[in-house]
Amino acid sequence: MKIACVGAGPAGLYFAIMMKLRDAENDITIFERNPSGTTHGWGVVFWDDLLNSLNSNDPQSAREIVEHSFYWTGQVVDVKGKQRVHNEGGGYGICRRQLMAILTKRATELGVRIQFEREIADINQLPHADLIVAAEGVGSQLRQRHADQFKMQVNVGRNKYVWLGTTQVFAAFTFGFVPTKAGWIWFHAYAYKKDMSTFIVECAPETWERLGFDTMNASDSLRLLEKLFEQHLDGHQLMTNTSKGNKLPWLSFRTLVNGTWHIDNIVLIGDAAHTTHFAIGSGTRLAIEDAIALTNAVGDQQDVHAALKVYEIERQRALTYPGREARLSAQWFESLPRYISFDAPEFFTLLLNRRSRLMPHLPPRLYYKLHTTLLRHPVLRGLCRWAAPILGSLYRLRLQP
Ligand SMILES: Cc1cc2nc3c(=O)[nH]c(=O)nc-3n(C[C@H](O)[C@H](O)[C@H](O)COP(=O)(O)OP(=O)(O)OC[C@H]3O[C@@H](n4cnc5c(N)ncnc54)[C@H](O)[C@@H]3O)c2cc1C
Repeated sequence: MKIACVGAGPAGLYFAIMMKLRDAENDITIFERNPSGTTHGWGVVFWDDLLNSLNSNDPQSAREIVEHSFYWTGQVVDVKGKQRVHNEGGGYGICRRQLMAILTKRATELGVRIQFEREIADINQLPHADLIVAAEGVGSQLRQRHADQFKMQVNVGRNKYVWLGTTQVFAAFTFGFVPTKAGWIWFHAYAYKKDMSTFIVECAPETWERLGFDTMNASDSLRLLEKLFEQHLDGHQLMTNTSKGNKLPWLSFRTLVNGTWHIDNIVLIGDAAHTTHFAIGSGTRLAIEDAIALTNAVGDQQDVHAALKVYEIERQRALTYPGREARLSAQWFESLPRYISFDAPEFFTLLLNRRSRLMPHLPPRLYYKLHTTLLRHPVLRGLCRWAAPILGSLYRLRLQP
């Protein structure tokens, strides 16, 4: 099969690797707009579920990915310098550039051609192919050109965020909330190698404007953020590897859904097909799972169109749960004023349960009480989730004069 793939991110590269492993005769070219070895962002997290899947699909790249990962343990929530520590659990962090280097090397070894510095805006720029894979991330131009046919919808989040790096090592997944005169500002941080961590800063748009980040240049912005988070950074600097002019690359998260994931022989995978908010740290896993599902569908079906339909149904179904979790998680951070005044144990529980469908419908204190008593029972938890919207409406009615 002749395949043209646009984008050498995790989705495009893993798909190419899978298709070559399935049949070495597959003729695959990836077109990537960036030069080799460059990418946006810092480290990403993943858990054993992804590792198991990588191990069973391509043990060779899985081994290298583990070797270059950092295992972080537990979670820390820090509000105004007061910390709560949850020692259970942990996950892996890996440098995005390293992950891309491993997958690029593996794909090339298997005979995939990768053309760097080739930006594709239209399928006319591609050679004839049996299958065209749009794996160019959330800004996919191939998808934009056919946005109506893909039934594309984008929901832009309220909060501002910026993806930074630091040499401070956060050996546990850490959330730090700091009050300023302009409102709360917070970070999500985790180590992804022994001397580097990802440091994502987030705040409400009003706070962002009042602190002056809308007009401030990148270096002043970094210095201000270092000052705001000085207790947590302990003298370490914050760094950016992308910029918008001379400003920091602040963004509002775009949650993307597409009603259809394929038209003709063009198929969407990874962030080009769907995005899930970074607060659940799953976009890379989902992109790789798309790549595996697409390979299986294309390998099992003679007809490309039938294969793409099978892939679309399977992955849209698989996205239901993480998509909902991501939306709830993003909304939780957008509703921070609702939760931030609670004392440490309550706030910690509310934050750790931010994916709950019940929480947005109940007063936080009532949710906390239920959580620590009734909701420990799985049957009652299921019932409450089902009844959550009704309970919420009744509660809101009661509050109306
Ligand atoms: C702040 C933040 C933190 C995150 N943290 C995590 C995390 O901890 N764990 C996790 O699993 N996920 C995380 N994610 C999500 C994750 O980064 C994405 O879901 C994942 O990278 C999607 O992979 P992809 O291959 O679909 O797209 P991308 O990684 O975006 O790759 C797309 C590639 O296509 C190229 N490209 C774009 N346009 C063109 C074009 N026109 N022509 C040619 N090439 C093009 C790009 O240069 C890029 O190389 C995070 C995202 C954000 C924003």
